[in-house]
Amino acid sequence: MDCIFCKISKKLIETELIYEDEYIMGFKDIRPQAKVHLVFISKEHIESADHINLENSHIVGRMFQVIAKISSHYNLQRGYRIITNIGEDGGQEIRHFHLHIIGGEPLKKEIN
Ligand code: AMP
Ligand code: ZN
Repeated sequence: MDCIFCKISKKLIETELIYEDEYIMGFKDIRPQAKVHLVFISKEHIESADHINLENSHIVGRMFQVIAKISSHYNLQRGYRIITNIGEDGGQEIRHFHLHIIGGEPLKKEIN
């Protein structure tokens, strides 16, 4: 198994964990792109948001609910951005579905 996020979900790699339940984990990004940069992953291996279907979409719903609940604890009260990179053109380096939560400062509205 070489998927780094599967290793994180099985606790084979340590992170600065901020949230965990039966379906998802949230932790601080190791290379933050903004003052606040969190990552939420599915515990099960889903390749990307392009592989969300009726069987696994509850995981995405759970992620959005939890992010809305914890955002005020991470200096995101003024707003933030949720991003998911998909595939090669989308710049997805880790091929295991995850959401980036970015904020803690005003963000620029650029695509790249
Ligand atoms: P992506 O380019 O969308 O696949 O994003 C992968 C993200 O995972 C990047 O922002 C990395 O900095 C982050 N990352 C990779 N390895 C770790 C790790 N061990 N702990 C925390 N974040 C990580
Ligand atoms: Zn994986």
